[in-house]
Amino acid sequence: MGKIKIPEPADIPAAADIVVIGGGIVGCATAFWASQAGLATVLLEKREALCILTTPASAEAVRCQFDERENVEMMKASLDIFEHFDEIIGIPGYNIDFHQQGYLFITSNDNGPQTLQDRVRRQHTWSLPDVEYLDGEEARHRFPYLAPIVTAATFRQRDGWLSTQKVTYGFAKGSTARIFLKTEATGFIIDKLGISGVQTNRGPIHTRFVVIAAGPFSGKLAELAGVKLPLTIERRQKAIIRSPLVPQNAPMTIDLDTGAYWHPEPGGGILGWAEAVEEKPSEPLDFVPTDMEYPTLAIKGCSRLSQFWKKITETFKREDVVASAGQYTITPDAKPILSPLIEVPGLFFNGGYSGHGIMGAPEGSRRIVEMIMGRLQAEDNPFRRERFVDMGVKKERLMI
Ligand SMILES: Cc1cc2nc3c(=O)[nH]c(=O)nc-3n(C[C@H](O)[C@H](O)[C@H](O)COP(=O)(O)OP(=O)(O)OC[C@H]3O[C@@H](n4cnc5c(N)ncnc54)[C@H](O)[C@@H]3O)c2cc1C
Repeated sequence: MGKIKIPEPADIPAAADIVVIGGGIVGCATAFWASQAGLATVLLEKREALCILTTPASAEAVRCQFDERENVEMMKASLDIFEHFDEIIGIPGYNIDFHQQGYLFITSNDNGPQTLQDRVRRQHTWSLPDVEYLDGEEARHRFPYLAPIVTAATFRQRDGWLSTQKVTYGFAKGSTARIFLKTEATGFIIDKLGISGVQTNRGPIHTRFVVIAAGPFSGKLAELAGVKLPLTIERRQKAIIRSPLVPQNAPMTIDLDTGAYWHPEPGGGILGWAEAVEEKPSEPLDFVPTDMEYPTLAIKGCSRLSQFWKKITETFKREDVVASAGQYTITPDAKPILSPLIEVPGLFFNGGYSGHGIMGAPEGSRRIVEMIMGRLQAEDNPFRRERFVDMGVKKERLMI
């Protein structure tokens, strides 16, 4: 079982097979797969706990419904891991609170029926047969809170949301990695063969493999190794609202026309509306501020097509609301970079999930370890970093 501790100086090993930097969901998933592959694994987290930065700030939602084959394939594999999580991490009965209440995309556009029928047809050809197309009437019948202007929807029952805390700690506990808290990677040691170690605030660790999985700080770390990546950091907020009016059996519901989304949480719901606030690219932050007015804006966004939110607007009190924020790490095509950084042999990058790092982490991290083990080649990796040179950039809309 992974040992998680704030180390004494003597605990820091002189060497490891692999060092993973970052103790969010991505770093812990990477450490899990690396130790499964038989590598003596060390994970470094600069703060006092795992799952403390972007991961817990998320809406914790996971889905397979994407409009590009490579995204569908990766998320399908990730959801499979979530569905069998306790068996995979080897802790029978370990519960990640996976609510498979579905993901419902809705639109009020006149061309919605055509667009969504086409999308569902494509998803069926990508081995995702259980996405349903619903016309407006059928959608309202199944989900009575929907507004009369909804023209079309898509639904997949097995999508949903889960506890990111439990997943992150589950990967950590199911691994044999040594996990060091309050231990910051401060630089890299590079020799003529490539990476030869990581500098930390507690001393160097020698290794021939390093995975950068430091969320919004990942780009800065790559720069320390002399590699510049096309990443943009932007704040995203979410609101949690206590209210008995939120239907607890509802799916994750997303307004495709605006990006506003919500899903139930015990005693209320979680909601967000990124497009309500104009966010400028920023530096990575350890503490991300929130706007006082964000919950009201998010409720307004959700009430357009999910009408009960209008009633909540009229009744909610300040003490019923909590807002939190984190940062997206965004690539030019809104897909992650899962790749060796070829300028420095042995250095790998697992980040840039562009708002999909909870759903992408299990399979994305498995693939990184497959690359390290020489079992996944560049030509079979749609998320290689070189795609920004050898492909045009096509971007799926950023949406949770
Ligand atoms: C509001 C919001 C809603 C979101 N909703 C969803 C969603 O519903 N579904 C989804 O899939 N995704 C969602 N996301 C995106 C998702 O949260 C991220 O993609 C994911 O959490 C990234 O995980 P991570 O482990 O890479 O990063 P983090 O959780 O940020 O972890 C990185 C860790 O690295 C540590 N670190 C940084 N630098 C160093 C260093 N030098 N040395 C050691 N440690 C270091 C940090 O302290 C941190 O703990 C959302 C994001 C936001 C902000």
